[in-house]
Amino acid sequence: EHLLARIERHDGALNSFITVTAEQALAAADAADAARARGEAGPLPGLPLALKDIFCTRGVKTSCGSRMLDNFTAPYDAGVVEKLADAGTVSLGKTNMDEFAMGSSNENSFFGPVKNPWDLGAVPGGSSGGSAAAVAAGLVPAALGTDTGGSIRQPAAFCGITGLKPTYGRVSRYGMIAYASSLDQAGPMARSAADCAHLLGVLAGHDLRDSTSVARGVPDYAADLDAPLSGLKIGLPREYFGDGLSPEVEGAVREAVKVYESLGASVREVSLPHTHYAIPAYYVIAPAEASSNLSRYDGVRFGHRCEDPADLMDLYKRTRAEGFGEEVKRRILIGTHTLSEGFFDAYYKKAQKVRRLIRQDFLDAFDEVDVLMGPASPTPAFDLGAKKDPVSMYLQDIYTIAINLAGIPGISVPAGFANGRPVGLQILGTHFAEARLLNVAHQFQ
Ligand code: GLN
Repeated sequence: EHLLARIERHDGALNSFITVTAEQALAAADAADAARARGEAGPLPGLPLALKDIFCTRGVKTSCGSRMLDNFTAPYDAGVVEKLADAGTVSLGKTNMDEFAMGSSNENSFFGPVKNPWDLGAVPGGSSGGSAAAVAAGLVPAALGTDTGGSIRQPAAFCGITGLKPTYGRVSRYGMIAYASSLDQAGPMARSAADCAHLLGVLAGHDLRDSTSVARGVPDYAADLDAPLSGLKIGLPREYFGDGLSPEVEGAVREAVKVYESLGASVREVSLPHTHYAIPAYYVIAPAEASSNLSRYDGVRFGHRCEDPADLMDLYKRTRAEGFGEEVKRRILIGTHTLSEGFFDAYYKKAQKVRRLIRQDFLDAFDEVDVLMGPASPTPAFDLGAKKDPVSMYLQDIYTIAINLAGIPGISVPAGFANGRPVGLQILGTHFAEARLLNVAHQFQ
C-alpha cells in the first residue's frame, strides 16, 4: 500500500509505469501473508516489484511499449513471471520501455518518454528505462528488465541502480516478447548486487518451453557475496577507454578500480581488438532477427488492426503503418534488406562471422583475467530530446553491445556521479560467471 501510494504520488512526473495492477497486487500480498502464516512461503514472500511491459502477464495488458499491442491482454504468464509469483513476490505493474525494446533512452515508447528521477530533464536510458526509474525513485525495490544490447545495464547506470544481464540461456525467454532472439536475455534491476543475487536465484534455470535455455544447476548466488577479492585479476579493455568516453565518466570508473586494488585485486590492461565492429555487427543481426520476429504483427492474429481494410494487402500495410513507430519501422526495413537475396551473404553472414571473432576476444581475455571492468556507457544520462540522429543513439551502446554478441554476463553498479548524474561501472565475466560478478559488485557496495 505504501508503494502504491508512492506510485500514485510520483509517477505522474516520471511516467515509469504503463499499467499499475493495484488490485491484483493487494490480493497477491494477502496470499503471500497467508502462505507465510502456513509456513509455505517461497524464498521472497511479499517482495514488491515491477515487470518490464515486454513480459506476458495473464489477464494484464502487455504492450511492449507499442501501439501495436496497446489492446493486447496476454492469455498466459511468461516463465519468469511464473517463477517470481511462485517465489511469493508481488507485482505492482508493468513498466514503460522503448517500443519492442528498440532504443537507448526510452524516448521510443508509444506511451511517452520516462523521466530520470535524478533530473527530470534527463533520459533514464533504455530500453528498460521504466524499470530503472521506478527502482531509482523508490517506487519498487526491484524490477525485471531485458537486455539485447545494453537495455538493463545502461538504464541501471543512468539511474544509479544495479542491473545484471545474465549469460544468454541462463534465464527463460518463454513469454518474453522477442526482439532479437539470439541476443535477448532477462535479468534483475535493483538497488544492490545482493538484491540482484536473490532475484537471479529465482529467475535462473532451465525451461522446456525455451529451447535456448540452458539445463544447468542454479547455484546459490548469495552464498559467496562476501568472498574476499585478494588475488582477483581485473582486466581493463584498452578499447573501452578511448575516444568518445567522457573524462568525468572515465575518472569515476578509474576511482572505482582503485577501490578494487585496495581490496587486494591486481589490474592490467587487456585488448578486445574487434570492439569497433560490435555496433555494425549488432545493427545487422538485431534488425534481421527483429524483422523476422515482428512479421507476426499482421492485424490478423492479435494486436492492432486498421479500420475497414479494402483487401488483405491493405490490411497488412495499414495495420503495420499505424501500429509501429518510426524506429521499429527503420529496423524492419534494415533487417528485411540484409536478409534479402543477394545481400544475405554480404551482410548477415558476414556479421555472424564478426560475432564469432568478438566472442573469441572475450574468451582470450578471460584466459588472462577473472573479470573485465569499464564504463557501462560513454556519457552519463543525456538530456531528453538531445539525440535526434539514430546513429548517435546507436553509438551510446558501444560498451554494452559486444557482451550480448558474445553471450557473456555483465553487471552495472553505481560508481559515483559525473556532472551531477549517476555513472555505472560495468563488470564482465565469462559465461555463467554470475556468482563471481555479483561477489565482485557486492564488495564495492
Ligand atoms: N539500444 C539497443 C537497441 O536499440 C539495445 C536495446 C536492448 O538491449 N533491448 O537495440
